Amino acid sequence: AGLLRVVSRGLNQGVARRFYASSAPTTKLLINGEFVESKASEWIDVHNPATNEVVTRVPKATQGEMQAAVDAASEAFKSWSQTTVLTRQQCLLKYQELIKLNIDKLAESITLEQGKTLEDARGDVMRGLQVVEHGCSITSLQLGETMSGIAKDMDTMTYKVPLGVTAGITPFNFPAMIPLWMFPIALACGNTSVMKPSERDPGATMLLVDLAHQAGFPAGTVNVIHGAHDAVNFICDNPEIKAISFVGSDQAGQYIYERGSKSGKRVQSNMGAKNHGVIMPDANKEATLNALAGAAFGAAGQRCMALSTVVWVGESKEWIPELLERAKKLKVNAGHEAGTDLGPLISPEAKKRVCDLVQSGVDEGAELLLDGRSCVVPNYENGNFVGPTMLHKCTADMTCYQEEIFGPVLVSLEADTLDSAIETINANRYGNGTAIFTTNGATARKFTNEVDVGQIGVNVPIPVPLPMFSFTGSRGSFRGDTHFYGKQGINFYTQTKTVTQLWREEDAKDSKATVAMPV
Ligand code: NAD
Repeated sequence: AGLLRVVSRGLNQGVARRFYASSAPTTKLLINGEFVESKASEWIDVHNPATNEVVTRVPKATQGEMQAAVDAASEAFKSWSQTTVLTRQQCLLKYQELIKLNIDKLAESITLEQGKTLEDARGDVMRGLQVVEHGCSITSLQLGETMSGIAKDMDTMTYKVPLGVTAGITPFNFPAMIPLWMFPIALACGNTSVMKPSERDPGATMLLVDLAHQAGFPAGTVNVIHGAHDAVNFICDNPEIKAISFVGSDQAGQYIYERGSKSGKRVQSNMGAKNHGVIMPDANKEATLNALAGAAFGAAGQRCMALSTVVWVGESKEWIPELLERAKKLKVNAGHEAGTDLGPLISPEAKKRVCDLVQSGVDEGAELLLDGRSCVVPNYENGNFVGPTMLHKCTADMTCYQEEIFGPVLVSLEADTLDSAIETINANRYGNGTAIFTTNGATARKFTNEVDVGQIGVNVPIPVPLPMFSFTGSRGSFRGDTHFYGKQGINFYTQTKTVTQLWREEDAKDSKATVAMPV
């Protein structure tokens, strides 16, 4: 509770910094249950994306501090891995309750550091909370298998046992949901964790780990280090860390997958995306256009499951003017202001990159039907705002189509047939998500069968699975074997131990060695 007060005071000070620009509070490390000030010589400023004022400073933790976090996690693993599954379940049950009680505080922190609207920030927490709630059934999820009588007097059973110290490296766009895909499930299985949140918005992680302590997870079970490349390299190379969960961009994800795997770790790496929405002429127009506008421009397009590309099949392209009307009505403003639909982008660099990609589309021959690049929000003139933008008549060779834009920019293509739309999607390097809008079951069935994408929506624009399933992005959007949360999440954080045992009443009498291979 103490830390929560410290952090929230920090957040309030962050808001206050609009007026007092001199002393940004620092974000602490969490080592063995203690929130400690780093002795780092280098610090990274975290800005409020709506104003670009500094709200906190994040240390680039020293090697000694990072090693102390791993040492604490290693030590805690000795006892935590021996706790009963009921003890761990009780911690999770308490944890989900505390997250619910603190949802507004978490959302405020997210809006302050990340920029999304308060309502969307609550959604960010809720989707992570659902993973924690699902984790409360660890008593069933971690069950192994048994078979008695696999030979005379012989039984085999499997146990799902924890790995040891695990690590999580997270992106800026879901500061609560994504950390909650990681450490609660790792801990539920009996592991310990070292988290490295995004250096651009670590506040939600700090609140979440404090709540985890209040819920009863002991000191050392979850630790937090901060930094950028050096912290990532430390995690990839440290021999005590057995598994790495990563979510973020392609460049970092490929690198971490390769470096972590090379040092013998299990790695799951969720990366970038280019999600296509296919609009059939028989779709329900109103529902489809509302869904498309929300999924393309919501969260300022900074979602890995944003529907950032639309493929109009046949005459459905005639609906474009009505989509534009909806897009123009969306209100761009600071995330904490009432009525905001789109907040700012995370940084001035992100804004420049998005604007450059829009320009590349224009230069390569696309039609700019809506241009949000010169968007200025009164009272927030320094914010990183970009309004809804739409580039039409795009083709697969254009840079704006090839790159993940990660802004409120809809890339629009036309296709004569469903087959040609499916071909386009399957030729794209990413496989995170896609959606089809139709009222024809046979069309939907053909699409779901033939499209090579890991998460498919039928009249559902952002088909992120609930945690009884797993987050199953594929192809260029994922590296690894085992996905986040659901049964796969449990498998990621456990290894299978198989025991075959022989209990024979006449054992004492049997003294002759058997040398042939047992069958
Ligand atoms: P990012 O890759 O810049 O940062 C993610 C993490 O990696 C951070 O903790 C950062 O410190 C670290 N990092 C950054 N660059 C690195 C490098 N070169 N080497 C080593 N480590 C590095 O990602 P981001 O900008 O914070 O997040 C946006 C990206 O994440 C988008 O591409 C988005 O699609 C993706 N994302 C994917 C999913 C998914 O589930 N597939 C979910 C959310 C976000």
